[in-house]
Amino acid sequence: MQKVYLDNAATTPIRQEVIAEMISVMQSDYGNPSSTHSIGRSAKAVIETSRKTIAKYLHCNAQEIIFTSSATEATNWILRSAVKDFGVKRIITSKQEHHATLYTVQALQEEFGIQVDFLKTLPDGSLDYNQLSDFLSADIKTIVSLMHVNNETGVVHNLEKIGVLCHQNKALFHCDTVQSIGKTELDLQQLPIDFLVASAHKFHGPKGIGFAFVRKNLVLQPMFFGGEQEKGWRAGTESVHQIAGMAKALQLSYDNLANERDYITDLKNYCFDRLSEAFPAVKQNGTDTFYNILNVLLPFSPEKTTMILFNLDMKGIAVSRGSACQSGSIKPSHVLAEMLSEEDLKKPSLRISFSHFNTKTEIDYLVKVLKEI
Ligand code: PLP
Repeated sequence: MQKVYLDNAATTPIRQEVIAEMISVMQSDYGNPSSTHSIGRSAKAVIETSRKTIAKYLHCNAQEIIFTSSATEATNWILRSAVKDFGVKRIITSKQEHHATLYTVQALQEEFGIQVDFLKTLPDGSLDYNQLSDFLSADIKTIVSLMHVNNETGVVHNLEKIGVLCHQNKALFHCDTVQSIGKTELDLQQLPIDFLVASAHKFHGPKGIGFAFVRKNLVLQPMFFGGEQEKGWRAGTESVHQIAGMAKALQLSYDNLANERDYITDLKNYCFDRLSEAFPAVKQNGTDTFYNILNVLLPFSPEKTTMILFNLDMKGIAVSRGSACQSGSIKPSHVLAEMLSEEDLKKPSLRISFSHFNTKTEIDYLVKVLKEI
């Protein structure tokens, strides 16, 4: 059966060059990076070269990049340390954040009794920046945690604006850039961001590896205790091959960005045009969306809603209804719940997310199968 993978916001296939790089590191650089002999030093060199590569593409210092097992881990660590060690008494976030942020904030609220303020999501998926400005005018030690690109709708938030507001009001800014790293340029010399988190498997790298950017002079406390790895902030023997794979994946993403972005933008437009021809009442959820995510509300009856993902799966098509972690769940998406009317929420919304590996033929197949449902 034909397999069509249109769920690239959930995870991406690994590039062949990344796999080759990881195999080479596993074969040759098997030393423990903490060992002082040459085999250990060679593994350490792989890690430090990878760190420099990542820093180069993000325009920051290599020392500001800390490797973690995932973006979820990085977010947990940063927010917890902000509350415990920086004396943060309030978190401003929004209900459209990934659960990695939402559930961490909830746990910190329960544990430390901090104040949590949620910014309003407007019906087009954007955030209310005036409300952010109002919230920030209160004199209370704050960290703002807002994402760059929403993983369900693709709505892009204005990092420059949020960062400037935060810094004018002496608040820290943590940003979940999981969906945008490797897919758009981010210049950390210009952007007023204190912390960001990323995950390799979203940019054609391996799973189980990510990183945090922690701006110079911000000293976090460790989440784990043990060895001296990662400045003592993240103890545990480093996963050398995954780190090397992540750096290679980021390098390839940025080296090919211009071409791949054009190609994917064209695919997304093609997909929406074909869907509009087939279902004239189709609507896109969210405006100002990122070029690789298309979230559409299909004019199907509510009875078809529960069956739609199953039917697509039976035909070999992988798309998503909500965020990856919710696929298969019968709960409505917590992001769409913030944006859509009760009535629209009952209709099927599909998240179709693209990569440069997709083709127009695959999109024709998706539309054909949807028409048959
Ligand atoms: N943040 C966003 C926006 C995501 O899309 C995801 C992954 O689904 C995460 C965080 C979690 O990333 P990880 O898989 O590295 O824990």
